[in-house]
Amino acid sequence: MKIMSISPARPLLKVALTGALVLSLTGIAACTATEAQEESAATTDQSTTAASASLNKVNANDFPVNVDESTHPAGTPPEEGDLRVTLLGTGSPIPSTERFGFSVLIQAGDNNYVIDAGRGTIIRLIQAGVEAGQIDGLFLTHFHSDHVISIDDLWMTGYVPAFGGREGTFNVYGPEGVTNIVDNLRTAFQNDIDVRVADGEVERDTTGIEAHEFTEDGVIFDQDGLQVTMFEVQHDPADVIKPSKGFRIDYNDKSVLISGDTIPHENVVKYGKDVDIMLHEVAAFQDRNVLPQVISHHTTPDQAGEIFAQAQPELAVYTHFVNGIPGKVEGISDEEMIARTQENYDGEVILGEDLMSFLITDEGIEITDQEDLAAN
Ligand SMILES: [Zn+2]
Ligand SMILES: [Zn+2]
Repeated sequence: MKIMSISPARPLLKVALTGALVLSLTGIAACTATEAQEESAATTDQSTTAASASLNKVNANDFPVNVDESTHPAGTPPEEGDLRVTLLGTGSPIPSTERFGFSVLIQAGDNNYVIDAGRGTIIRLIQAGVEAGQIDGLFLTHFHSDHVISIDDLWMTGYVPAFGGREGTFNVYGPEGVTNIVDNLRTAFQNDIDVRVADGEVERDTTGIEAHEFTEDGVIFDQDGLQVTMFEVQHDPADVIKPSKGFRIDYNDKSVLISGDTIPHENVVKYGKDVDIMLHEVAAFQDRNVLPQVISHHTTPDQAGEIFAQAQPELAVYTHFVNGIPGKVEGISDEEMIARTQENYDGEVILGEDLMSFLITDEGIEITDQEDLAAN
């Protein structure tokens, strides 16, 4: 049987918070918002973000952007057999200092993998105590800007010796289209490689980037006991945003599902059945009828509640928040987000935050949130 606990700093408090976790949130916008949608938004509610944002005492930006100063648990490899999941960015395309673009760090043994590379991924990575050069590979769910905009940063900063100095090639895994992105990044940034090699700063054989493209769903990665399964999801009602994938990670009987950007989808339930942690995207506006074209591209809290109820993950966690659009559409409070989820789900749901980390062990799941980090 699994036990939920947290980092040693506040063990009793966290257990007591079951069902009522109040974590920081801010309003952020949909990664699918088009200009037309934004115009329509501007004519609606002018109020701003969730009221609870001001209650937040700690922010991911409070932690040093310096690997040597980081006290984040991800700075130390998990013990053999354990799996660590760290939310690097929990936001969407709208620039936000509190919620950086979507990204997740997966650590198993000495292996470090990143799922998606939204804005600022490398900043949070360094705050988590991991250098860009220590990343063994990147997996992409789809190619919206808020998921791919930092591929170049992870790749190029990672081959600079001062930032970890990757040995060998940077590997990028994902659906059809990954090769196109990687080939064009290589072309676009050839000068950086040439001048750093000419300058004697880097060896050319450390500057490679390689695509691993998969047209079929299924297990796309299996190495050192870490298995990654890719599955189809659906980002929009017309199903024109393709590819759109989710991932399931398995390691030593421990599992994590990443929904990707999706409307409620049966594959999330199928692949997420009984996983230890289900990371699900979420979108919510105060008025459920505002901007239907944005909401229709995502999963609302009540819909996510249905997914959680069917899949029964050990722990349900929200990330990729589309909670209002600052200055245009009002989002909802943390309490409201939990309440709407619990319309259909009686388990606990965690509102993810940048740098929040989860250690899955044989005994259970340990959560470290921003307050825990600040206390360490
Ligand atoms: Zn997105
Ligand atoms: Zn998207």
